[in-house]
Amino acid sequence: MASPVLIIGAGLGGICLAQALKKNSIPFKLFEQDERSNFRAQGYRLRITQHGIDALKEALTPALFTLFEKTCAEIPSMGVRCKPDGTCNSSPGAFGPPPGFQSKSYTVDRSTFREAFLADLEGDVFFGKSFEHYTIHEDKVTASFADGTTEDGSLLVGADGVRSRVRKQYLPESQGLDTGTRIIFGKTPSTPDLLSKLPVEYHHGMSLVTDPDDASQPCVLFESINFPYEAEVTKLRLPAPYMYWVLCTQRSQLPSSLEKGWHVSSQESADLSIQLTKSWSPSLRAIFEMQDASQTAMRSLLSAMPELAPWEPSNRVTLLGDSIHAMPPTGAMGANTALRDAADLARRVVEAGGIAKVDQGVIGVYEVDLRDFARMAIDQSWKGGMKSFGLKPVEECERILL
Ligand SMILES: Cc1cc2nc3c(=O)[nH]c(=O)nc-3n(C[C@H](O)[C@H](O)[C@H](O)COP(=O)(O)OP(=O)(O)OC[C@H]3O[C@@H](n4cnc5c(N)ncnc54)[C@H](O)[C@@H]3O)c2cc1C
Repeated sequence: MASPVLIIGAGLGGICLAQALKKNSIPFKLFEQDERSNFRAQGYRLRITQHGIDALKEALTPALFTLFEKTCAEIPSMGVRCKPDGTCNSSPGAFGPPPGFQSKSYTVDRSTFREAFLADLEGDVFFGKSFEHYTIHEDKVTASFADGTTEDGSLLVGADGVRSRVRKQYLPESQGLDTGTRIIFGKTPSTPDLLSKLPVEYHHGMSLVTDPDDASQPCVLFESINFPYEAEVTKLRLPAPYMYWVLCTQRSQLPSSLEKGWHVSSQESADLSIQLTKSWSPSLRAIFEMQDASQTAMRSLLSAMPELAPWEPSNRVTLLGDSIHAMPPTGAMGANTALRDAADLARRVVEAGGIAKVDQGVIGVYEVDLRDFARMAIDQSWKGGMKSFGLKPVEECERILL
C-alpha cells in the first residue's frame, strides 16, 4: 500500500481534504495540535458560498453532504444598518447579503463543522499532535511532532492556518500584511432575556453598526444564528441559538499590551469588547454584556500579499487554505478558498492515478491554480473590507513575515 498523505491541521481545509481522500480510498493521516476537547471554544459562524459548496459536494459522500446541510443554520436575511446610538435605517435592503444570496449559501458553525466531520474520520485523525518540521528523503517525507514522534508519508500538506509552520519551512521568505485591523468575535446566547432587551429588527438577519461620521471608530456586524433542522440531527448536538458578532477596531485604539491581538485570553477579549462599546446604546451593549465570554477571541487581521509570488514546486510538500493565502474575513472567502483548494488537490491526486504517481508536475499545476484563485479571493476580501469595515488600502498596510 502507498504511504499516506500527511495532512497537518484539522481546520476546514484539512478536514475537507481528508474527506475527499477517504472518499477516493487514498491513504492519509490527519494531525491536529488541539486536544479534541478544545472545539467548543473556537466558535464563529462561516458563510459557505458557491466554491465552498461545490468543493463539499465533491469531497463528501451524499450522506455526509446531507449531514452538512442539516447542521447548518437558518439562511441569512437582510438586517438593519445602525449607528452606535441605536438609531437604524431599517428600510428593506439596509444591510445584509446581496439579493439571491440565500439560494446559494449555507451558514455553518465552525465548531459544529469540525465535530461533525472529524467524527467520521475516527482512526485517521490524531489529536494533540503539534507539527514542528519535516525532512525530505528521496522516497518519502517525514513529519516531526512536538511530542517527539515522527510519521512518514508520500506527500505532506500544510493545512495549518495563517501561522503555518509548514509554510515557514517551505517558503521561509513568504511575506504578508498586517492590516492594522483587530477583530474581536463572540457569541451571545439568544435567551429570552437578551431578546427582550433588543429591538425586534435586531432579532433576524445580518446587521451592521457603524459610525457614519468617523470610519476609524469600532464597527460591529451581528447576526442571529439558529438551527432549523436540529430535530433531524442525531449524530451530534447543535449549539443553542446565539447572536454571532464581530467587532472591528484599529490597532491604534487598543492598549499597547493588546495591540498585536495575539495571545489575548477569552476574558480579556470579552472585557475589551465591553470597553470599546461602553458609549453605545443600551440595547446594542446588551449583546456584549450578555456574551458567553468563554467563546470570545481576538485576532489580528493578517493577509497574504495580494499577488502570491510563484515558487519552485516540491513533489513532497504543498499547502492549502490560510497557510498560504490568509485573507481578511471581510469577503467571506477564506474558508471557501480553503475548501476549494482541498477538493482540487484531492481531484488532482485521483486523476494522477493515486498518491504514488503524484510528482512535481502535478503539484506545480495545483499551485498555479491555487495562486490564481487566491488573487481573486484576496481582492474580493479587500473590497468588502474597505467598503464596510474600515480596512486600509493594501499600500498602507505593514509588511510582515507571516
Ligand atoms: C470571525 C471570522 C469569520 C470568518 N467568516 C468567514 C466566512 O463567513 N466565510 C469564509 O469563507 N471564511 C471566513 N473566515 C475565514 C476562515 O475562518 C478561514 O479562512 C478558514 O478557517 C481557513 O481554513 P484553514 O483550514 O486553511 O485553516 P484553519 O481553519 O485556521 O485551520 C488550521 C488548523 O491547523 C491547526 N494547526 C495549526 N498549527 C498546527 C501545528 N503546528 N500542528 C498541527 N496542527 C496545527 C489549527 O489548530 C487548526 O485546526 C472567517 C474568519 C474569522 C476569524
